Amino acid sequence: MSSPRLDDAPRMLLMSAARYGNGGYLDHVDAQFHALFGEKKWNVLLIPYGTVSFTYDYVESRARVAFERTGHTISSIHFAASPRAAIERADAIAISDGNTFALLKRLYNAKLMDVLRMRILSGIPLVAWGAGANIACPTIQTTNDMPVVQPPSFDALRLLPFQTNPHFITGKMPAHNEKSREDRLNEFLDLNPNEEVLAMPEGTALLVEGANATALGDSAMLWFRQQRRVVPIKPGVTFNLNSIAVGQRLMIVDKNKTPGSKGEADSMPEPTFAKRDRPSDQAP
Ligand code: ASP
Repeated sequence: MSSPRLDDAPRMLLMSAARYGNGGYLDHVDAQFHALFGEKKWNVLLIPYGTVSFTYDYVESRARVAFERTGHTISSIHFAASPRAAIERADAIAISDGNTFALLKRLYNAKLMDVLRMRILSGIPLVAWGAGANIACPTIQTTNDMPVVQPPSFDALRLLPFQTNPHFITGKMPAHNEKSREDRLNEFLDLNPNEEVLAMPEGTALLVEGANATALGDSAMLWFRQQRRVVPIKPGVTFNLNSIAVGQRLMIVDKNKTPGSKGEADSMPEPTFAKRDRPSDQAP
């Protein structure tokens, strides 16, 4: 699959997680939904294929609370006679969380990858969280999930030109010797020198409008770069999606830009704030 072209106009809300802090399922999403959906009320088609522990009925009933609270209706694809036709007709699409490998495998098995990508690139709104947001990336290589099943490929929808990491949390638990999230992202970057990763703490979301994205939420996202650099992207900043790439600077779009309007892109000095350590036992 090729990268999004500038004349494509996807509108996507890609949320790190379904929960924020001690809040319940999709409790924190109202303002972010509004940023994507505006005043219009949408009939949203839910794709719940990421769930492993719950039934599709249950996933729909949980999601319905947030969609109805914000004025929208939602109906799960598992009720449709033809899932493909349901995607072809959908006004808007939601992809829920769960296990990213299971989600991708089910989409491949159902032969829905191409039609899904085509509809979203044609501009119908997509809201996705957790595993659902992972599959907007070029691949699922930066998920936190275990490969509990094997999809035919790690290739995902490539609606974004870069990888994201959801539920991002920094550091290690005391007296626990597993790798930190930084360690895992470093491993990915070391073995994939053409890639960089946008790490998204819980509560954050990317609002994608065509070639630009706005960082939403209360905390900064962290752009994990090659050469062990990390660049924070503050909430409210709108940037050109294609600038999250090896050797690029963050192209910040007009700061007065409100979601939905067009802005001029400006190249800004890179606000690097940290250099990550390379573990001493690792070859350069
Ligand atoms: N399992 C996570 C979720 O659906 C996704 C991930 O951590 O990669 O929220």
